[in-house]
Amino acid sequence: MTTRTGLAVLPPLPEDAPWYVQHREFSHLLSAVQADAVFKSLLSLEVRPVDEAVVRAAHAPQYIDALKDPASAFYQTLDQPQSFGQELFRVREGVALQEWIEGLIRYALPDALLGAGAVCSGIQAILAGRCRNAFALVSGGGHHVERGQGRGMLNELALGAQFALDRHGLRRVAVVDYDAHFGNGVVDIFYNDPRVFKCSLHELAGDARSLVEETGSAAAPGTILNVPLPNSSGDKNYAAVIERVVIPALRRWRPELILVFTHFDAHWSDPLGCMMLSNAGFAAINAALRRCADEVCGGRILMGPGGGYHPNTGVRCTLDALRILAGLPSDPAAQDRFTSSEPDITFLIQQLSATHPLLK
Ligand SMILES: [Zn+2]
Repeated sequence: MTTRTGLAVLPPLPEDAPWYVQHREFSHLLSAVQADAVFKSLLSLEVRPVDEAVVRAAHAPQYIDALKDPASAFYQTLDQPQSFGQELFRVREGVALQEWIEGLIRYALPDALLGAGAVCSGIQAILAGRCRNAFALVSGGGHHVERGQGRGMLNELALGAQFALDRHGLRRVAVVDYDAHFGNGVVDIFYNDPRVFKCSLHELAGDARSLVEETGSAAAPGTILNVPLPNSSGDKNYAAVIERVVIPALRRWRPELILVFTHFDAHWSDPLGCMMLSNAGFAAINAALRRCADEVCGGRILMGPGGGYHPNTGVRCTLDALRILAGLPSDPAAQDRFTSSEPDITFLIQQLSATHPLLK
């Protein structure tokens, strides 16, 4: 059996792509990965756009048609003030609306299809036995994109899960999301699908579906595990949640494949997240999830997209995640020494242990 780690990378945009679809942060991340020693050990995977049939199965069937239609509500909503979409597609400074929309359709949509294709490519290589595990290095990571809307175009990891179910006949796929913000997209897309286990660790916020009490619909009971954490939760609390909640639930649920949303905005240096994890904290989480995959599903784990809102932190944490997947030691020079005073989450862990169907 192969022990290699696959790497599926979002291909570069065409040279004539306009500035508002460029990924400057992603280029920085990709260059750093390609320059690192770990890169030589990775199996480079070919990436093609995700099949539109997979998009129609995961997102609302007509959603992909709306993404292709400049007159659709998707684009009209993006143009409204304070639209979430403008975060993703930059602010439309000095660009006429019609030109902007045409640019999104011509460049951003193919790019999103390729990003999801990178996830599917990694999954295909794992399931075909060409690599033991894989990383999909893509820009963005649309974990807020639901069935038919969101802060982005496509939900890459959800499309990967759909691909594994539809094209490879898997019956049990787990998605673990430790982005600082609730992974609402996967929860919404697979809310009634008992084949997908949805686990999100996130800052405590108001969405009812992000709370401890939400454990899945009647059609898919016990398939949602929410861990809403207080601000500044930090390394020790995350490690406790992983060891005492997430891994026991995964052991009980027995996935055939684990997908991990690896976006590092829960880092202490991140300008958006407030969760105070360090590089070492993320490395411990990723190492524990890799060990869990080795134990429960023959090592079948895919991580992605990589990065975060702090470019250098995103690079360091992504490189560490790649080393962990490849079975290489962490780079000691990349370890920060941040420590913080952490809130007590004993009650939260007790509550989850006593009430979640996979833990009680
Ligand atoms: Zn986030």
